[in-house]
Amino acid sequence: MFSEELRKYDWDDVTTRIYAKTEVDVRRALIPGRRCDIEDFMALVSPAAEPFLETMARLSRRYTEERFGRTISMFVPLYITNSCTNSCVYCGFHVANKMKRIILTEEEIVNEYRAIKRLAPFENLLIVTGENPVKAGVPYIARALDLAKPYFSNLKIEVMPLSTEEYAELRHHGMNGVICFQETYNRANYNLYHPRGMKSNFEWRVNSFDRMGQAGVHSIGMGVLIGLEQEWRTDITMMAGHLRYLQHHYWRTKYSVNFPRMRPSENGGFRPNCIMTDRQLAQVTFAMRIFDHDVDISYSTREPAALRDHMATLGVTTMSAASKTEPGGYFTYPQALEQFHVSDERTAAEVEIALKATGREPVWKDWDASFDNTTLISG
Ligand code: SF4
Repeated sequence: MFSEELRKYDWDDVTTRIYAKTEVDVRRALIPGRRCDIEDFMALVSPAAEPFLETMARLSRRYTEERFGRTISMFVPLYITNSCTNSCVYCGFHVANKMKRIILTEEEIVNEYRAIKRLAPFENLLIVTGENPVKAGVPYIARALDLAKPYFSNLKIEVMPLSTEEYAELRHHGMNGVICFQETYNRANYNLYHPRGMKSNFEWRVNSFDRMGQAGVHSIGMGVLIGLEQEWRTDITMMAGHLRYLQHHYWRTKYSVNFPRMRPSENGGFRPNCIMTDRQLAQVTFAMRIFDHDVDISYSTREPAALRDHMATLGVTTMSAASKTEPGGYFTYPQALEQFHVSDERTAAEVEIALKATGREPVWKDWDASFDNTTLISG
C-alpha cells in the first residue's frame, strides 16, 4: 500500500531537495526524449526552473500533441448531494455548517441528467457527493449510475473512499473511473484540515488508490488542493511519486491529475496558506507533462477562462464546462449553496468555440460502455 511507500519520504527533506535544485538539474530534465524520474520532477517544479518556462511550455506542447493530438476531452460534474459527515475546515459543506442538506431523489437525478444533455452533447459525466455513507452510500451511488447509463457513455465518481469490493461493485453499475483528491500528502498537517469524520483517516484515504487499482477501475484521478500547504511544490512532488507508484503497480489503469487552486467561497473562513500564481500553475502543468507524457491533465472551471484556453494548447487534455457546484444545480435547486464559486462561467458552447479558435478539438465522447463490458467478460 502506498502509505508504507510514503513513509520513506520525509516532507522536510523533500522540500529541501526541491529548493536545492540548480540550473544544471533543470537543463538535464529538459533533454528532449529523456524519461524523467522524480528528481527531474523536483527540478522542474523548483524555483530554479522558473527562467525556463518558455522551454518547458514548448516541450510540454510537443509531448502532449504527440500523445493526444489536439483533442480536449470534455466532461461535466453533477453534485447529487451535499450531505457530508466530515469537517474539512476549508469547505462550506462541512458537517457543522447549519445549511440545507440535499440528497437528490431518483426523479431529480434524472431531471439533472436531462438538463445537462440540453446544455451540450456531454457523454463524460462526473457524479459528485459529499461523504455520508449512511444516507448517500454505495447503494445510492449505484442507483445514480444505473439511471445515468441511458444518457452518458462514460461515468466517473468523486465520492468517499470505498473498499476494493465496493469499487468492484460499482464497476458493475457502469462506473468507469474514480477521482479522489488526497488534498495533501503532509501527514503531519493532514488532521489540521480534516479533524473529524472518516476523512480524518489519512491512511484510508491515501490507500484508496491502491484499492481502486485492485478493483480494476479503468481510470483514476488524483489531486492536491493548492492552498493548504505552503510548500505546494512538495505536495505536488509527492503526488507525482504516488502517480508513478500506481502506474508501476496498476499498469492497466489510465491516470489523470489535477491541481485545484482553492477558490474564495469554498473556504468557509479558511485562509489559504499559499497563493499559487498563474505562472506557477503553468510551471507545474508543464512539469507534469514532461514527467509523464501519458497522464491526462485536467483543468476545471475553478480556473479563469483565458488561462484555460491558453493552457489547452500547452498540456491540458481534459476540461469541464458549464459546471454547477451545488446539488441539483442544473435544474432542481439552482439556488442551493454551491461548494465553491467557479471562475469560468461560460456556457459549454462558448467554451467549445473558444477551444476551436485555439486549434483544439473538443471531444464529447471518447469512451463507450461496451468497452468495459468486454473487459469484464475477458477479465
Ligand atoms: S471537502 Fe468533501 S468531504 Fe470535506 S466537508 Fe466538503 S464535501 Fe465533505
